[in-house]
Amino acid sequence: MLLTQCAACAAPLGLTLGKKCGRCSTRYCGPACQKQHWEEGGHDQLCKKIKKAGGAEQFHANTKYAEAVTVAAEACTDDVKGQTCFICTQAVHWKTKEGLVRGCACRGTSGFAHVSCLAEQAKILIAEAEENNLGAKAIHSRFQRWDTCSLCEQDYHGVVECALGWACWKTYSGRPEADWTY
Ligand SMILES: [Zn+2]
Ligand SMILES: [Zn+2]
Ligand SMILES: [Zn+2]
Ligand SMILES: [Zn+2]
Repeated sequence: MLLTQCAACAAPLGLTLGKKCGRCSTRYCGPACQKQHWEEGGHDQLCKKIKKAGGAEQFHANTKYAEAVTVAAEACTDDVKGQTCFICTQAVHWKTKEGLVRGCACRGTSGFAHVSCLAEQAKILIAEAEENNLGAKAIHSRFQRWDTCSLCEQDYHGVVECALGWACWKTYSGRPEADWTY
């Protein structure tokens, strides 16, 4: 659970207090804030969009992720000139149009990638381990792809670590918490 405040007045709600928007699960301290947020806070415009994204938690994670990817790509602009992604081999991501990043210990021309490509790779590796019942140990070690570079085996740092953190959250936020057995 990521959103523990009233969306209108920011009152802390813990894990269970207050009420939720029946459509998109945005949380409020009470009906007054919900009404105000709908009428003046722009929620009437956003509600459908949030619902479509999979609810308030997912929407929030998606937004944070998009921001973090932009920040990371911008921070790396000078570093990545003339380079290509070691995963998809392109400079600009075909779908998201995001720029390259590098936030590990790779040097020279190695280690440049798109956050989306790194995230996709980690996701596929873990899904594969789960499908083939490779066990908690294998899954755990594959989970390191979310925070460790597969080339230099060093942790990602700074803005890249942050972007991948959100990518990971975005990917798994829909899972029931009891599902985390490793
Ligand atoms: Zn409130
Ligand atoms: Zn709503
Ligand atoms: Zn790529
Ligand atoms: Zn590296």
